[in-house]
Amino acid sequence: PAELGSVYLDRCRQFNPTLNALIHVQNDLAAADLLTADRSQSILAGIPLIHKDLFSTKGVTTSAASRMLADYVPPFDATVVGRLRDAGMVSLGKANMDEFAMGSSNEYSYFGAVNNPWDLSRVPGGSSGGSAAAVAARLTPVATASDTGGSIRQPAAMCGITGIKPSYGRASRYGMIAFASSLDQAGVMAVSADDCGLVLEAMMGHDDKDSTSILAEPWRWQAPQEASMQGLKVGVIPDWIEQLKDNDIKRSTQQALDTLVSKGAELIEVDLPHADLAVAAYYILAPAEASANLARFDGIRYGHQSAEPCDDINDMYRKSRNEGFGQEVQRRIMLGTWALSSGYYDDYYCQAQRIRRLISEDFKQAFSKVDIMAVPVSPEVAFKQGEKSDGVSMYQADQFTIPASLAGLPCMSMPIQPVRGLPVGLQLIGPYFNEQVILSTAARFQ
Ligand code: GLN
Repeated sequence: PAELGSVYLDRCRQFNPTLNALIHVQNDLAAADLLTADRSQSILAGIPLIHKDLFSTKGVTTSAASRMLADYVPPFDATVVGRLRDAGMVSLGKANMDEFAMGSSNEYSYFGAVNNPWDLSRVPGGSSGGSAAAVAARLTPVATASDTGGSIRQPAAMCGITGIKPSYGRASRYGMIAFASSLDQAGVMAVSADDCGLVLEAMMGHDDKDSTSILAEPWRWQAPQEASMQGLKVGVIPDWIEQLKDNDIKRSTQQALDTLVSKGAELIEVDLPHADLAVAAYYILAPAEASANLARFDGIRYGHQSAEPCDDINDMYRKSRNEGFGQEVQRRIMLGTWALSSGYYDDYYCQAQRIRRLISEDFKQAFSKVDIMAVPVSPEVAFKQGEKSDGVSMYQADQFTIPASLAGLPCMSMPIQPVRGLPVGLQLIGPYFNEQVILSTAARFQ
């Protein structure tokens, strides 16, 4: 472990200045843990990892990439962090991200944008862009991440690595800084589906400290012994592939589906008739929940306090929140507060909840016919930094990842044929609590 860890720590020192994937590297702490790691304890013992800066880490700054929490040092570990430490994994540091996990490009971080290792002028995707870039550039073999509407799958696709968001309720949210609580879910990014399976097994499971954590038995990861996919029914949505305007991505996706068939899988057309409403519903629901979750950061109870002279308490709240939150976060708080205000609540929030229900029903129908679904992750490859300057075009790019999030289903991105030298992912979605079926399909594909 000490040797392995020092290779990764060296790479962090060497490449992080160009990538900006990590906010914080725990050199001394990690080195000490690596020296004492006992490989006989578990398969993960002594294996380095990096945590997204959204996970509370005892004694180590946890900022959610916000000025609001830039000096916050948690007195406790998130459950996920604690479980991985109990398994013997050693944290090398904290990964950059979009502020409070709001974004799809990692350009909304108080600590600056992350650069995509495949082309430094491009974004790594977001919000878990630091985790994805760190794994892609081999600053770490594994990183934790979180996904609310696509934040594991989209950056995994844009950086050419594997990332999984388990079913909602599989991994504890305790100690994970909240964005939209009914959607937030912790997951893993790694080099392969096999590695994701091993780490996910160690981090999931019931937790009394999270009331939405499920009681179901956790599974044990078993790497598939053979490559055949005989008997596997894979749901595809021809309309989504048609919607891909980039012909190279379309071709790569089609080729990946052909590979599934060549390995024995059967493709079956399915439909999610309400999925085109998903983005609109999500951008009401997620900001609504965010506006409530972020209300605690007022500079008194939690978070950055303005040093400006203040007239009264309201003035202090205003100044602290104005300085502490970045523009995108402020936009979401405004949107969410507005959607929840009396008069608009029924028209927007309740409508969005109805759409959410319809989309879950659509998936239920689809999964009565198939074992998994295989669909695109992102309509585009990693785009140039600064290319999407308006929020709405960024929001629309989440069209393929948001439906599974609204339904709370397990979903992942695995790398397929790159186009024009840039990575592309294929999204696999599974039925509730069946992470194994998508992971083992990806492992067979790889
Ligand atoms: N891009 C989406 C958003 O900005 C998803 C983010 C996420 O999954 N955390 O909300």
